Amino acid sequence: MSSDRLIYDITPFTHLDYPGKLAAVAWFAGCNMRCMYCYNSDIVFSKEGSYTVDDLLALLKRRIGLLDAVVLSGGEPTLHELEPICRAIKTMGFSIKLDTNGLRPDRIADLVAKKLVDYIALDFKAGSEKFGYITGSSRYERFRETLDFLIGRDFDFEVRTTVHADLLSPDDINNMMKVLKNRGYNRTYYLQNFIETPNNIANITKPSAEFDRQSLGDLLPTKWRN
Ligand code: SF4
Repeated sequence: MSSDRLIYDITPFTHLDYPGKLAAVAWFAGCNMRCMYCYNSDIVFSKEGSYTVDDLLALLKRRIGLLDAVVLSGGEPTLHELEPICRAIKTMGFSIKLDTNGLRPDRIADLVAKKLVDYIALDFKAGSEKFGYITGSSRYERFRETLDFLIGRDFDFEVRTTVHADLLSPDDINNMMKVLKNRGYNRTYYLQNFIETPNNIANITKPSAEFDRQSLGDLLPTKWRN
């Protein structure tokens, strides 16, 4: 396995990241977005982390029987060649969840087709009009391609959105729900509030007003995570 330090950090144990499973989290260095509200700027701007894949596998070996799963997060994990990493993790018997912004539909489709991931949390950052402004990326179509791919499969996944009331209004979220519904998504749509830290990429602070949850429509079942 590569001796590069691809992994910025490892959380050895959490019950919060993978629904219903005890998991370790591998935080991969680097990202192909620059979301204004991102609180992982250290990870996003890192070219190298503190751990190699072998370090991760050694930790997991010691956790066989104690953990159910591994979450591949970041940063954006699909920037890295995940196939051999997933194969090694699967050999140890762990389930794998992938957190992704969806900008690498080719790699995601490949991992799903090869049954190397068991669950995906796909970030829906914004509708096409605000996507570039919020994420610093013009590749909304790639996100949409990933979304369509997952909707068309018999595969366990969720779509989630981080909400900062100055960046996304209830109308924006309602329109995003419409996009999801029209494309065939009928699972729970997860929403999570922006978290202010000293490291948010755009130095944005708390929203000037609270997000009005009452103005959300009911096109899809929604659930707030915080
Ligand atoms: S919030 Fe945006 S910039 Fe931060 S890790 Fe996720 S995709 Fe990358």
